[in-house]
Amino acid sequence: MHGEVVSTERLTPQLVRVVLGGAGLEGFEAPQSADAYLNCFFLPDEAPYSAPFDVDEVRSLPREQRPFPRRITVRSWDPDRRELTLDIAVHGEVGYAGRWALHAKPGDRLQFRGPADGYSPDPDADSYLFVGDESALPAIAVCAARVPAGKPVTVVAEVEDVTGEIPLDSPGALSVHWIHRSGRDDLDDLLADSVAALPRPHGRVSAFVHGEAAATRAVRRVLLQNEIVHPDDLSCSPYWRRGLDDEGWRAIKGQWVREVNAETFVPMEPVAASRP
Ligand SMILES: Cc1cc2nc3c(=O)[nH]c(=O)nc-3n(C[C@H](O)[C@H](O)[C@H](O)COP(=O)(O)OP(=O)(O)OC[C@H]3O[C@@H](n4cnc5c(N)ncnc54)[C@H](O)[C@@H]3O)c2cc1C
Repeated sequence: MHGEVVSTERLTPQLVRVVLGGAGLEGFEAPQSADAYLNCFFLPDEAPYSAPFDVDEVRSLPREQRPFPRRITVRSWDPDRRELTLDIAVHGEVGYAGRWALHAKPGDRLQFRGPADGYSPDPDADSYLFVGDESALPAIAVCAARVPAGKPVTVVAEVEDVTGEIPLDSPGALSVHWIHRSGRDDLDDLLADSVAALPRPHGRVSAFVHGEAAATRAVRRVLLQNEIVHPDDLSCSPYWRRGLDDEGWRAIKGQWVREVNAETFVPMEPVAASRP
């Protein structure tokens, strides 16, 4: 399946919105979950083919000519207009996905497989906590829009600086904490420290924590060690790894996830109980 760029919009210096349309989206199935994603194929400059192409056929080409797969969340799907919206993080002139989004123009094509489904906010939870960086903001925005009316929703989002903040809407009682990484050197712990400093969320919390690997691991630790979220109510996965491209990250991701999942926590004693 493939889409043709209808329009692009620079939402922030680090985030580009790309709207895809065209006949290549005929038969696209509306995603069910809030964080549904596509496996998109970004082409290197050397590719002697263009979308639509046969994925199995191009696998026999030299590595530098094959498509580079990247997972991108479905920000929205409009079946009436047959338009698919993706928000893609740009990080300078690097990365096949980021650079494609940066330079995308109407008529450009993007081939993909999917969507695949994952997390949706549990309607029976008492409150919601959504944490991540620009790569997770599209999913966080969909999650925030899908919670039951009136329930407390806390978003903790890491962006470069104030220019990276975007409007988020929710039928819930939304509280957004923008965390600016500009000038900080404690990036692995920035989100975790911000989450730890929040008032304890109300009741049973349904949580979505995605983004940079070390940052999500640190947030997971805070949430589980302090029993803020039950493991069954936590959707947490590392979307990307600082210092590695997606090929390098996927090569070690399985081992990383196994190590993270093996981490167990001794619940911390409540402060009042430890006093004599
Ligand atoms: C299920 C899922 C859904 C995702 N949804 C989205 C989405 O909707 N939008 C989105 O932008 N990303 C999303 N991501 C993350 C995205 O797939 C990765 O960030 C991917 O590595 C970006 O590819 P690239 O070609 O731009 O950069 P790569 O070629 O993978 O990396 C090039 C360099 O850029 C760095 N880098 C990669 N991502 C970022 C980033 N976000 N910020 C700063 N530096 C970065 C790398 O560490 C590397 O040094 C999702 C990932 C998953 C697993």
